[in-house]
Amino acid sequence: YCKGLPHVVHAQEQLFSCATNSAREITGMTREKGLNRVIVAACSPRTLEPLFRDTVREAGINQYYFEMANIREHDSWVHSKEKEEATEKAKDIIRMSVARACRLEPLQEFDLPVDKAALVVGGGIAGMNCALSIANQGHEVHLVEREPELGGVARRIHTTLEGMDVQAYLRDLVSKVYQHRLIHVYHDATITDAAGYVGNFVTTVSSEKGAAAIKHGAAVLAIGADLYRPAEYLYGEDDRVLTHLDLEEGIAKRDEKIVNAKSVVMVQCVGCRNEERNYCSRLCCSESVKNALRLRELNPEMEISILFRDMRTYGFKEDYYREASEKDIKFIRYEPDDRPLVEPGESEDGRPVLKVTVTDFVLGKKLQIDADIVALAAAVVPAAATKELAGLFKVTLSPDGFFKEAHVKLRPVEFAADGVYLCGLAHYPKFIQETINQAYGAAGRALTLLSNDIVVASGSVCRVDEKKCMGCGACVEACSYGALELRETKQGMKV
Ligand code: SF4
Repeated sequence: YCKGLPHVVHAQEQLFSCATNSAREITGMTREKGLNRVIVAACSPRTLEPLFRDTVREAGINQYYFEMANIREHDSWVHSKEKEEATEKAKDIIRMSVARACRLEPLQEFDLPVDKAALVVGGGIAGMNCALSIANQGHEVHLVEREPELGGVARRIHTTLEGMDVQAYLRDLVSKVYQHRLIHVYHDATITDAAGYVGNFVTTVSSEKGAAAIKHGAAVLAIGADLYRPAEYLYGEDDRVLTHLDLEEGIAKRDEKIVNAKSVVMVQCVGCRNEERNYCSRLCCSESVKNALRLRELNPEMEISILFRDMRTYGFKEDYYREASEKDIKFIRYEPDDRPLVEPGESEDGRPVLKVTVTDFVLGKKLQIDADIVALAAAVVPAAATKELAGLFKVTLSPDGFFKEAHVKLRPVEFAADGVYLCGLAHYPKFIQETINQAYGAAGRALTLLSNDIVVASGSVCRVDEKKCMGCGACVEACSYGALELRETKQGMKV
């Protein structure tokens, strides 16, 4: 079919066009046949277009003579059940690409200077590690924190499951940040505007120091996450019902009400793995096992029960789950459509308790536990500012509302918008060690950009045809460079 299209002199199939041997074949064929336009009909240009552009450039023609027809995301994936129609659509897409390719012009790329400073949004463990890592390479860093203090959610965490002292680590990290001559910290700060493009951003920050327009070449979004405020299990109505972080803080302070309790019940998966939030918060199973082990150490007589759906103490954390069950911590599985019930009541010896009723999945029986404390494994939810920040920096969110990376395998700490990176809980719930690793990753990617004096800008630049513009403003919304604006003209609103 393709061979029969106007201007097409050669068409062939390849198994994996992005593989090195296939790319070499394209280069060879372009040279051999003297081709001046190349079209690959395959997947999304988002990931592989740069590679194919290099391929045609190696053949000696302008790289903008390359065109990609996306017959995967736009066709075979969405019409997998209508094969005949999908084939027809693939032909249409390719025919359009061929027509477009005929009109392509050779374009030249150009150089833009890079501002050597970085902006890091979020002063938690992720943001601070990232800021330090960038500053240690000699770049100025503007660290923006919405709270009056640095530390983020880690301020409420005292130890890790493995026993690391988080508060000591945090103190050390915060003092390194404050002492670093290249890091400027903004407290109580919010971002009110962000404009510019890779290498040349201008972000307006309003903080205790007033409003400031910060120029920077790269931005790292590390704004962390919030904890779900439960609306179930009497949370907020009875002060014996806590979240797992409240429980951890209580244990750290040796709150007598907690450490002297006769019975503690923990309920897992509160506020997630449901219709509204269909994801696992990843951290809470380990958090509950950690609190349970800590309580067992402090009060060997305490009755501790964990009501769970699945215990997701993955990797080596599984050892602590085993240890907990060996130390007589009871794990009771419940089904999502038969959730535990928490009610105020009285124990047999007349103590005011919380009556927890749960159907044990294994025994197939209803159990009733008298609890002095109920701790809820509340979900990790996207921070309140996530959506607004995504709009300002023109970056995407996942269906769960967290920041979404450009490509899970190829660009795991970058956004599709060049020069903007991500790390920490703002991406999805992760442990401290994972957060630190990712912060270094994001810093590394940002440094790759900042260590250059110039960035090469794409030769394909959009131009608005004023005669055709009807002033709907859709392009202003979509432009990731903030390059467009709507202006009132005699003919009405125009871009
Ligand atoms: Fe539920 Fe455990 Fe996942 Fe948290 S980590 S959402 S408690 S399964």
